[in-house]
Amino acid sequence: MITESMIRGIGMTSQRTRDRLIRRLREEGITNTSVLDAMLSTPRHLFVDEALSSRAYEDTALPIGEGQTISQPYIVARMTELLLEGNYPEKVLEIGTGCGYQTTILSQLVSSVYTVERILPLLQQARKRFRMLRLNNVRSKQSDGTWGWKENALYDGIIVTAAPAEIPRALLEQLKPQGRLVIPVGSRGVQTLAVITRTAAGFEREDFERVSFVPLIGGDVTGVGA
Ligand code: SAH
Repeated sequence: MITESMIRGIGMTSQRTRDRLIRRLREEGITNTSVLDAMLSTPRHLFVDEALSSRAYEDTALPIGEGQTISQPYIVARMTELLLEGNYPEKVLEIGTGCGYQTTILSQLVSSVYTVERILPLLQQARKRFRMLRLNNVRSKQSDGTWGWKENALYDGIIVTAAPAEIPRALLEQLKPQGRLVIPVGSRGVQTLAVITRTAAGFEREDFERVSFVPLIGGDVTGVGA
């Protein structure tokens, strides 16, 4: 049974603890107030195992089972901020639902979110959270996200929360003109956070900070950004 107080949180999951995280994100350079507000109002402790809930508002990645992690809050904020720059996106595709935290942040900021996860038990748990939080603009499916989600393309923005060695071709193809793909690219362990914008001439790539994501496991790659 999910109660209002569970969503609000108590003790180490209380509003004060969350305020502290938001202050830290500001100090680390996150400036988009819509992103900060969405993070302030999202109960991150509901996205991790109860045994870890007292650590849910630390700025760290945490295990979510199946060898996967919930991303560090700073990284979620940074990627969301990069996605929202330029033309404001309405329709966004996320690859790597995991526990559904990033999805939940996005659902508060854009009109519709499509999210793809390859590990079914993780997706099933995430769907329970979407229902519990009454997110009615999120559609999800179990699939290999390197193929994107063609039926709903094109997207204004695509965000990938696991790292491929090279950028999947299908994701580039499913971007609208001026659409933005936010993606960590590189080998296991350390990658570069990249933003690819679809332009009239093709694709432009900008590189940002070094990041460390779990690998994107799957098929279709381009050779771009290898
Ligand atoms: N978005 C999550 C991060 C989850 S970790 C958050 O908010 O914290 C990355 C997720 O990507 C894992 O759940 C992993 O199973 C998933 N993943 C890896 N390769 C994938 C692929 N090819 N297609 C879809 N999901 C994939």
